[in-house]
Amino acid sequence: MSTATLDRSIAYAAPTAAPLTLTDRCDAPAVVGGPNGRTGRGACGAQGFVRAALPSGNDLVFCAHHGREQEAALAAAGAIIRDQSSELSVEVS
Ligand SMILES: [Zn+2]
Repeated sequence: MSTATLDRSIAYAAPTAAPLTLTDRCDAPAVVGGPNGRTGRGACGAQGFVRAALPSGNDLVFCAHHGREQEAALAAAGAIIRDQSSELSVEVS
């Protein structure tokens, strides 16, 4: 075992919200359309603009819509919130 590996795991666990990329997707539960044409519960899956780093060490990614919706609850839970909705461009689909 090397100390370099140990250092890296400590850095990863630091309570900061990492920058989002264009491939990050919203984790919020939402009603989504299934392949059979019916709707059900699933992950939103929209482009992520808001990352919340929870005190537990987990982090969640939300789209702008769900980020605004969850922001107060996340802040109350002690999460570090990084809103990049004004920094990232909306992808062209
Ligand atoms: Zn969403």
